[in-house]
Amino acid sequence: MPVYEFYCRRCEQPFTAEMHVAEHEASVVECPECHRKEDVEKRLSTFTAVTSHKSAHL
Ligand SMILES: [Zn+2]
Repeated sequence: MPVYEFYCRRCEQPFTAEMHVAEHEASVVECPECHRKEDVEKRLSTFTAVTSHKSAHL
């Protein structure tokens, strides 16, 4: 199972969670600290590295 990165705005803490791709797509992730889902945002570090390439810079 892939490991995804998340960030809880409430706790101001990043965390990781193992889940299937479908679960990740459904965005049902709760923070291990405060157990809230509303303040959790995805951190797509793997994809960000690809999309934020320097091609748009000048
Ligand atoms: Zn939290």
